[in-house]
Amino acid sequence: MNKKITVLSGDGIGPEIMAQAIKVLDKIGEKYGHKFEYTYVDIGGCSIDKYGVPITDEGMEKCKASDSVLLGAVGGPKWDGCPANIRPEKALLAVRKELELFANLRPTKLFLQLADASPLKKEITQNGIDLLIVRELTGGVYFGPKKTEEVNGELVATDVMPYSEHEIERIGRVAFETAMKRNKKLASVDKANVIETSRLWRKVMHRLSEEYPEVQYSDVLVDNAAMQLIKNPTQFDVIVTENMFGDILSDEASMLTGSIGMMPSASLSSGTRGMYEPIHGSAPDIAGKDLANPLGTILSVAMMLRYSFDMAKEADDIEAAVNDVLDEGYRTADIMQEGAKRVSCTEMGALVLGKL
Ligand code: NAD
Repeated sequence: MNKKITVLSGDGIGPEIMAQAIKVLDKIGEKYGHKFEYTYVDIGGCSIDKYGVPITDEGMEKCKASDSVLLGAVGGPKWDGCPANIRPEKALLAVRKELELFANLRPTKLFLQLADASPLKKEITQNGIDLLIVRELTGGVYFGPKKTEEVNGELVATDVMPYSEHEIERIGRVAFETAMKRNKKLASVDKANVIETSRLWRKVMHRLSEEYPEVQYSDVLVDNAAMQLIKNPTQFDVIVTENMFGDILSDEASMLTGSIGMMPSASLSSGTRGMYEPIHGSAPDIAGKDLANPLGTILSVAMMLRYSFDMAKEADDIEAAVNDVLDEGYRTADIMQEGAKRVSCTEMGALVLGKL
């Protein structure tokens, strides 16, 4: 198979982790007879430095012309002072919107080899954690109108959080379908006791749940969900929620596994094209030091093969290679444990490659 991939390495550790992921992808191509063609596009701070914008129109067109997009991370203190319309993160929101990537799938899986890295007590994690957050990605308060104005001599800022029925229904459908493929258990997280969009969210989810009688459905208020994720995470299988709640809960969930550097994610449209990225940011504190954990990006490549290219065997192969490397005790600094063998970002990439 031939596939065109737009590679957005981005800022900070982005280029370091991406280099390892591309090596893995090339190895898969060689092993299974696929041809992966890469187009590199600047995004985030590096694009602001070169072109004055976080992504150029030409770059966006290249994303649209590809079969899938791989992203490292964007941002860093250098660009924190940029005006809101040209901040590095603006490019991510633009790509999600332009490619209509409305569904963000964020798995949280505790690798049992890393159980010690989890901040939770052993009795909570002993059976492993394996849940998936389906986050709505193109609506809500991140995309609603916003303004700051002077009222009675002081500044007042307003963000609007709109959600329409069809936006809720399409993300709900992805969640129910995903639940059907997993353990047929879905929790919908909202704040229906206070927020109007949450009341509509709940109404649409209830309507959908009638179409999926096999799925064990529940409503959970977001504050309770935040608490339950720490207290008893194994009660969850698939969680569906709106954009901002999902942003916060998925970072919380990722910490249950001990390292944000391990977690992949997929952002999907209604077609087969997706954008795949680790959930972490550009980690400016360790950038350029060959310290980053590339496994979140390598596992994002596996998700791309599985969800966009229908290459389940190849995806399984990468996941098994990561598992084997962890089994043999190799760890980057962020997941280091007593008695384990500490390796750099490049060495971790080479170890996964070796297993493939
Ligand atoms: P971060 O995820 O970059 O870093 C948080 C902590 O986790 C840091 O200590 C970092 O060293 C560590 N970490 C993250 N990824 C790691 C990896 N692969 N291996 C080892 N350690 C890792 O979050 P932050 O510090 O809040 O944000 C830094 C910058 O990244 C900001 O400019 C922020 O806006 C941006 N950001 C970008 C994205 C994205 O591109 N999708 C997401 C979140 C934050």
